[in-house]
Amino acid sequence: MILLYFIVGLVLASFINASAYRLRKGLELKDFVIRPSHCEKCKRDLRWFDLIPVLSYLIFKGRCSQCKAPVYWYYPISELVLGISFASLYYGSFTWEYYVTLPIIFFLSYWDVKDKSIPKQVTDALLVFSLIIAVISVISEFSSSNIFRVLIPVVLLGVWGIINWGKEKMGWGDLIIFMSLILAHGVAFGLSVLFFTILAGGVWGIILVVKDRENRKKYIPLVPFILIGFVLAINTVEHIKTYLFLPNL
Ligand SMILES: [Zn+2]
Repeated sequence: MILLYFIVGLVLASFINASAYRLRKGLELKDFVIRPSHCEKCKRDLRWFDLIPVLSYLIFKGRCSQCKAPVYWYYPISELVLGISFASLYYGSFTWEYYVTLPIIFFLSYWDVKDKSIPKQVTDALLVFSLIIAVISVISEFSSSNIFRVLIPVVLLGVWGIINWGKEKMGWGDLIIFMSLILAHGVAFGLSVLFFTILAGGVWGIILVVKDRENRKKYIPLVPFILIGFVLAINTVEHIKTYLFLPNL
């Protein structure tokens, strides 16, 4: 069963990446549905054996099977990440809400990597979904942990919104993602993701600067690290809750 979840994660990842690619290119709906994916370099249609998540990348050594152009490494890595995440969600008996928020963040991750920005409609949708989940949980169980999971995001988003009123809100999209995670999955999970995001992003930043000092000024997309933080949090949140600082959150 866990293998099935892993495979569903892989296939879904491949589908989301392809959809995000097509949405970014502004393809029409008919191309979107009917036209098979093609190589970005030679434009030839990909065949079924080019489209097997991770495996195709390994078999063709990271190159297009027809023109030998390198395939972007983000694809196989991100497919593996979602596969492992789904297997972990199943293993940890996580509730269905995680299977909604995780693919949304996965979609945003591709967008952030490619575009260096994330579409507001998608973060707003994530926020609305998470808010509904939070309100339902407060109604069904009026506990301190459920009150905090609503209170903290509402206050933080409110303050951030007022401070930056009328200005371009730096990091607003990233903040909404973290607040949505707290709303949808509770304070402990949201903080765990934040912790691992900072850790993973920090390590990556150090690697970049060590490789080349000029990289200091480069834009580092944050959402891929939120995705990594999400996966690590799935596998550790129970320990963090039990042994660290958040027994009741
Ligand atoms: Zn090609």
